[in-house]
Parts: sequence; C-alpha cells; structure tokens
Amino acid sequence: MKKHNFSAGPCILPQEVFKKASEAIIDFNGSGLSLIEISHRSKDFVAVMEEAMDLAIELLGLQGKGYKALFLQGGASQQFLNVAYNLLENKAAYLNTGTWSSKAIKEAKLFGDIVEVASSKDKNFNYIPKGYSIPKDADYFHCTSNNTIFGTQIKDFPDTEIPMICDMSSDIFSRELDFSKFSLIYAGAQKNMGPAGTVLVVVKESILGKVSRTIPSMLDYRVHIEKESMFNTPPVFAVYTSMLTLQWLKNLGGIAAIEKKNDEKASLIYNEIDRNPLFKGFAATEDRSVMNATFNLTDESLKPKFDTMAKEAGLNGINGHRSVGGYRASMYNALPLESVEALVSVMQELEKQA
Ligand SMILES: *Cc1c(COP(=O)(O)O)cnc(C)c1O
Repeated sequence: MKKHNFSAGPCILPQEVFKKASEAIIDFNGSGLSLIEISHRSKDFVAVMEEAMDLAIELLGLQGKGYKALFLQGGASQQFLNVAYNLLENKAAYLNTGTWSSKAIKEAKLFGDIVEVASSKDKNFNYIPKGYSIPKDADYFHCTSNNTIFGTQIKDFPDTEIPMICDMSSDIFSRELDFSKFSLIYAGAQKNMGPAGTVLVVVKESILGKVSRTIPSMLDYRVHIEKESMFNTPPVFAVYTSMLTLQWLKNLGGIAAIEKKNDEKASLIYNEIDRNPLFKGFAATEDRSVMNATFNLTDESLKPKFDTMAKEAGLNGINGHRSVGGYRASMYNALPLESVEALVSVMQELEKQA
C-alpha cells in the first residue's frame, strides 16, 4: 500500500518525478547511458543544470533583477557558514526563531559580531518575535522563513535597508512572496524541492565582493557564479531531480497555484486540531506554518492507540521532533490533499473511540 508521507525531510516528491528520475538512472534521454555515469560537462547535463537554475529564478519571479541561482553542496548547513564568510565584515543581525536559526548564528559568530535582534527561545520557539529593530550598520539581516521543527512561519518580513538573507529550506516555492526583498535566499533541496545532496542559493550579485577576507574558492559565491555551479562535479542526480520538481511546479501553474493547495491542506489540519478536544496545536495561532503543523494529544495516554491507528491508515512520518514531542505533519508541495484528509479522519476516529 502506498503510504501517506508526512516526513519533515527528506520529503515526499511528486510521483511523476520519482518515475522520470528512476528512468533517467537507467537510460538518460534515450542516450543508452545513465544520468549518473555521464560527464557533468556533457551537453545533456549542462542543459539540465541551466534549466534548473533558470526555473528557480523564473518561479521566484526574479528574472532580470540581478540574481543568480546556484546548485551547491553541503546542504543548508554549509550556507550558515558561507553566508558569513562572503558577507560578514564587522557585524550582522540575526533573528532567532529555532534550531536552524541558532545553528546559523553559531557559525556566523566565528566571523564577526552577531546581534540577535529577537528570539523566541523563552517559549521553546512556539512563536515568531515581532516589533524588533534591525541595526542599520549591520552588514546584513538573517532570518529563517519557516521553522521546520517548531512549525512556525514568518508571515510578514521586516522592511530593512540592509541586505536581507533568508534560510527558506522548508518553504521555498510554497507561497508567493516578493522575493526581490531578499538579497540572498538558500534552501536545502530535500525539504520542498528534491532529494538530499544539493542546496539552492539565489543571490543578488551586487552584494558580493565587499568583504576584505580572502575567500577559499569552494566557499566563494563569485567562483560558483563564474563556473555556473560546476566549479566541482555537481551532485547530478539531486540537481536533475530538483529540475524535474521545478518543471512539475511550473506546469501546475507555479507558486500561485501550489500556494492555494497548500493553504487548503493547512486549513484542513488546523481546523481539526482546533475542533477536536483530543488535540492542541503547539505553535502560536497567527504564526502557524503552512508546511509543518505541530500538535500534541491533550491526553498522552491515548498515544499508543493513536499511533497504532495512524500506522494502520498508512500515515508515515508524523512523529514530532524530539525537541517538541507530540506530532508534526509536514505538508510539502507534493503532498496531496487526500493525505491530509486521511490524517484528519484518523484524528476523528480517535475522538469517536476515546
Ligand atoms: C533541514 C533544515 C536545514 C538543514 O539542512 P541541511 O541541508 O541538512 O543542512 C536548515 N534550515 C532549515 C530551515 C531546515 O529545515
């Protein structure tokens, strides 16, 4: 039986993407060769990389605005370091909204003064701080758009004159935003775009080249731009599969179309969490993530029963992260509405039987 996959990451991808990716492993474009045994400098693979980069820029609405897309390695975690290495001269401002923000701050501290403009650590990161001010003399402001573990999401981004950098790993391509407000966006592929193994970086070229330190080639965005994401051998399978997912999204109608579906899925689960007396949400209502819904049972003794019912219904990956407990339903772009309906009906069935 096909499972309903609520995994937080690596995540569900469209079935047609799995099918095309698996075919390319055996025979890429009818070449008689596998995608993963040909040169990354072959015409066919160069075309894949170009299309992946172009689709990313196009879907974000950033054509002709001075941005470059890169597919790099080391995941989003590598970008915690790369951002600071390339952009931090003296001081940078960070908003701390969870585990991933905290890790980004830890790395940046190796390179300069870090001002934590606000933090929601006081309440185990169950909300997004608001009304903070961003120092104008900082080199940049960094935030995390969606907190995968805690299930909170920034709805309104601050207006700031300094470059805004955002870790969008778990909600990239899920909702319409004015992406030109950001000077650099990065996202590990495995949350909402592809398999693990590549990280998308979208950077406004004009912010680069301003720090005085010498940047090693592999960490230097300008080197990767110059080499069009092929300074070293790229993770060909991860890039190809990400490209297929971006094609799928474009054919569906782009971010505007998927956003509608994502909102529908989120409303369904949150309405049930609020209605059903056996469940309570973890995140502050106004900051709830459309991608990752975090919730707990009001009566912990029902856990074994709920877990068994969930398993029998084919629900996969709904256990909460260890730092939150309870449950987390990740509803990335490729998750169909029917999967959320299946989860909701198990929640309702529990209520009937309890
Ligand atoms: C998963 C995640 C990361 C870490 O990504 P890696 O690719 O494993 O380094 C960083 N930020 C956010 C918001 C995430 O969800």
